[in-house]
Amino acid sequence: MSNRLLNSLLILMVVISGVFSPLKSVQAQDEPRPHIKIRGIYGGAPTQLLEQNKQLPELGVNAIFMGSGSLTDERIAQLKKQGAQVFAEFNTMHVANYLKDHPDAAPIGVDGKVCPAPQGWQGICPTHPGYRKYRMDEFRRVLKEYEIDGIWLDYHHSHASWERAVPDMPDTCFCKRCLNQFQKDTNTSLPDVPASELSQILLGKRKAAWVAWRCDVFTDWVREFRSILNETRPQALLGTFHCPWSDTDFNGALKNKLAIDLKSQAKYLDVFSTMPYHARFNHPQDPAWISRQTTWLGQYLDIKGEPGERLKIWPIVQLSDWGESVPVEQVHSVLDHGTRLPATGVMVFRWGSLHPQTDKVDAMIEYYRAIKP
Ligand SMILES: [Zn+2]
Repeated sequence: MSNRLLNSLLILMVVISGVFSPLKSVQAQDEPRPHIKIRGIYGGAPTQLLEQNKQLPELGVNAIFMGSGSLTDERIAQLKKQGAQVFAEFNTMHVANYLKDHPDAAPIGVDGKVCPAPQGWQGICPTHPGYRKYRMDEFRRVLKEYEIDGIWLDYHHSHASWERAVPDMPDTCFCKRCLNQFQKDTNTSLPDVPASELSQILLGKRKAAWVAWRCDVFTDWVREFRSILNETRPQALLGTFHCPWSDTDFNGALKNKLAIDLKSQAKYLDVFSTMPYHARFNHPQDPAWISRQTTWLGQYLDIKGEPGERLKIWPIVQLSDWGESVPVEQVHSVLDHGTRLPATGVMVFRWGSLHPQTDKVDAMIEYYRAIKP
């Protein structure tokens, strides 16, 4: 064999191995994951793909999550015709417009004054009866009107901006209504001093009772949402998009600051959609953080991801750029960690800003198709 021929053969071998080995490794890794029942997109129908005459099954997608304000009968029918389930996202404590006509629903801070919205994330006082009725009526209307497969609570927590690397979570709500309700519900009495002094007592020696009461208030909203769902569309699922922290992250902020008691809410919910936006929340190089948080939640709520379990975990994972960007090379890893047990479903955040990044959309489709049973 001449040197020239040998060289050519060597080059050919290098080229062949370069072409085929990545394909081989991807195929070996991406086996179907039959425990994953939901391969979803959050943020509306992928109309940009549907307009190219692509069908959801060929994209590996079988669920669409959209804002309850964007639901139409026509859109739901179109998606269901393609075999997809349709889930609505429902804003609970974050309808800031309500404050224009009802300034008394604004959360009150430790100084006894209206607490400014942290980074614009306006919450509402959780004991304002008018606001609660307004949201419950709207929740009932959405469930009655639309043939949806489920409805997901969103921003169901106290006045805070936690969707960032460094959260901003002011202590609220020390309005007269909340202070009275606390005394009534816990059968205690507070001294007759200004709210600015009461807040110090409630965050000091009475903190345990105060935190527990606040969690109970937010859980009671979930109880009422559940009862409305049971009356209007009992076959639909009730889910929640919630903070992905563990009970000890940020000094127990899940309960202490955000008033989210996952164990108590579990009585009324079907699906927990944690929001482990790894890039946004200070883990840009660590997609494994996603599966670590899912593992923690599974242990905390005793969810294993087995068939027939009442409670489910379907994380919403970050593919679109928000704060930090998510490189296309990470799409595979993010979806891999998002679809590990005890998760039994996954959805990607979020179509509106993701769809122009077609390389990432292609990588998502490739992964969804590969894990589809
Ligand atoms: Zn209040």
